[in-house]
Amino acid sequence: MTELLDGKATALQIKEEIANEVRQLTAAGKRAPHLAAVIVGTDGASMTYVANKEKSSHEVGFTSSVYRMSESTTEKQLLESIEFLNNDPDIDGFIVQLPLPKHINEQKVINAISPDKDVDGFTPINIGRMVLGEDCFVPATPMGICTLLQRYGIETVGKHCVVIGRSNIVGTPVANLLSRKGFDCTVTMCHSKTQNLKDITRQADILVVAIGKPEFVTADMVKEGAVVVDVGIHRVEDATKKNGYRVIGDVKHSEVDAKCSWVTPVPGGVGPLTIVSLLQNTLKAYKKSNC
Ligand code: NAP
Repeated sequence: MTELLDGKATALQIKEEIANEVRQLTAAGKRAPHLAAVIVGTDGASMTYVANKEKSSHEVGFTSSVYRMSESTTEKQLLESIEFLNNDPDIDGFIVQLPLPKHINEQKVINAISPDKDVDGFTPINIGRMVLGEDCFVPATPMGICTLLQRYGIETVGKHCVVIGRSNIVGTPVANLLSRKGFDCTVTMCHSKTQNLKDITRQADILVVAIGKPEFVTADMVKEGAVVVDVGIHRVEDATKKNGYRVIGDVKHSEVDAKCSWVTPVPGGVGPLTIVSLLQNTLKAYKKSNC
């Protein structure tokens, strides 16, 4: 029987845990943790993500602020804003919503974020610490995937985990985390140059799909009884929906789900855990400087 790795329910549970901690902190006279976000331009998906982060921050009792900058913002202006946030003692952590407009060098901007406030875990310092197994801010989506597997007690030790995708924000860090002591998976990482992909994915006890192609993974690519984690998020037009679209993943759930022992739904799987991981990282940043 296929069971759901219910990201929505798990996220609610973790948010309640965070909210309890925040209530205790503020009851003791301390200020609430503060998460800030910088958004450049008016990309619809980015604005939705930032609005969701703001909403979730408020739900757990955090202070939240959003710095909205115009599409024509220069790299220099953005770097100056980051410097301001790095030095503001009332802000515990902040994120710069990606992608940035093409005239801005994304890596240069990420590099400018203080590693102590880098709650997205994207700076080279945090990535280096993660690879070394040191204390760090783990990138939110991979952290959310690990949390989901842990909270549902999914057996990982010695299991073959196949990750499709090697991006810096999902595939590479999740492959690293799941191969580490504690998870102890044997990890194979696949990418666009991988040959015989299907032969590899069919060997997976745990299949993590972060490829960015709608419904790419079909039933013939999945082993009977596998655990499938679908990271993909795509909006497709759907006239039957009030908002005119529905959200689908990188996995063709209509045919894959029946073969899985556990599967993340889309929406309501990895997505809610990504936001919650950001909140957990912000609380951690707060505690480092305030507790
Ligand atoms: P990305 O940067 O576009 O990376 C996609 C990866 O897939 C690349 O490593 C690419 O290989 C690989 N790939 C492309 N075509 C392939 C093929 N035919 N066979 C095997 N591998 C192939 O995407 P991303 O940022 O990791 O995001 C992946 C998906 O997750 C997207 O749908 C994104 O929207 C979603 N996402 C969701 C969340 C969430 O919170 N749920 C968070 C982040 C991202 P190369 O390296 O060789 O190009």
